[in-house]
Amino acid sequence: MGKHLVLAGGGHAHMVTIAGLKKFMDAGHRLTVVGPSPYHYYSGMGPGMLGGTYRPEEIRFSIKQQVEAKGGAFLEDQVQYVIPDQKKVVLSSGAVVGYDVISFNTGSYVSKDIVGQNDGDIYPVKPIEQLMVAKHRIQELLSGKQAIIAIIGGGPASAEIAGNIWQIGQRQGANLPIIRLFASHEFMSRFSRKVRILIKNILTARGIEIHENSSVRKVETGKIILDSGVVHDADIMFLATGVKPSSIFQQSGLPVGPDGGLLVNRYLQSKAYPEIFGGGDCIFFEDNPLDKVGVYAVRENPVLYHNLMAALDGKPLKPFETGGSYLLIFNMGGGIGVLQKNWFTLHGKIAFCLKDYIDRKFMKRFQNIHEHT
Ligand SMILES: Cc1cc2nc3c(=O)[nH]c(=O)nc-3n(C[C@H](O)[C@H](O)[C@H](O)COP(=O)(O)OP(=O)(O)OC[C@H]3O[C@@H](n4cnc5c(N)ncnc54)[C@H](O)[C@@H]3O)c2cc1C
Repeated sequence: MGKHLVLAGGGHAHMVTIAGLKKFMDAGHRLTVVGPSPYHYYSGMGPGMLGGTYRPEEIRFSIKQQVEAKGGAFLEDQVQYVIPDQKKVVLSSGAVVGYDVISFNTGSYVSKDIVGQNDGDIYPVKPIEQLMVAKHRIQELLSGKQAIIAIIGGGPASAEIAGNIWQIGQRQGANLPIIRLFASHEFMSRFSRKVRILIKNILTARGIEIHENSSVRKVETGKIILDSGVVHDADIMFLATGVKPSSIFQQSGLPVGPDGGLLVNRYLQSKAYPEIFGGGDCIFFEDNPLDKVGVYAVRENPVLYHNLMAALDGKPLKPFETGGSYLLIFNMGGGIGVLQKNWFTLHGKIAFCLKDYIDRKFMKRFQNIHEHT
């Protein structure tokens, strides 16, 4: 008899499963996808959307349309918590959905711990769709004055956001923004000296200020307060302080890793409940903890696709091999990229064009060509 597969979140790790839904239907199974929006936005192109290189519809997948076209059900809702012993999930709307097998790809979020009560014009870099709202707000402010825009955080998301805000200013022409980046320690400290210097040079040559060893204690509308007590003004702020896995698992009492992500074995399967799977930023892969990069979510696709079907049909599971080192290309705005793979680095227009090519190819593979915008 057919079983019920639930996908919580239509993120990067569920792309192949959603594309192959028909196989599940043909085998007699039912499928439901739960997600807060009919669309899923591709994070790799998010900074480019902020800078105006891409339109929102170029960087999103129409999950609802794809799922429904293939005979599945899409619930525009969010999973709040799981009752694993009853094989049920409770959604934000209060609806309760039962499952035989469930897979989580609910991603990660930026903590707002440092945000005070007045939180207007403060934008976390996730969810990616928020960057669209932020872009319009920046354009609105720049049309009237020279706005100060601050980015809190010293990692690659922060660098890409700064570079693409600069691009907004360049495209708009008048009232170029003052861009200030605050890193608690050394800027881009996880990366090689060469990459650090390259990115710093690109940003500072554009007049972007990089404040290192400037740990932020609190932000609220218009104001940044550092641990040192120094206060900076800012019209708009971006929070790029790192991501935490979706909090569903801790709230549900499921076994989690040290970061709160769903603890999974080499089959991307919960350590405690064999019918629970997961991929992407929301899991903690016990064998070999993974960086929170989309690359791993994408690599997990075929294994999740296989293992979800296998779990429904009682067949053997496949282990996830993490693969070798991965290629990273940062979009620095202005048509410039910085590429890093192991010891190799490349920067300039070629690096950006390569990123653009890879990202567009990925989109084309999974985007619904009949999407209405
Ligand atoms: C600005 C920025 C740029 C980045 N650039 C790159 C890059 O170039 N390359 C790279 O490899 N990585 C990049 N990353 C990292 C990358 O964003 C993540 O690793 C990647 O998004 C993880 O994919 P995911 O599908 O697990 O999560 P997400 O992309 O966060 O997707 C999760 C999905 O689940 C949905 N969801 C969330 N909560 C719920 C819920 N409760 N119930 C149901 N659905 C839910 C969301 O709406 C979303 O569709 C970047 C990150 C940022 C912030």
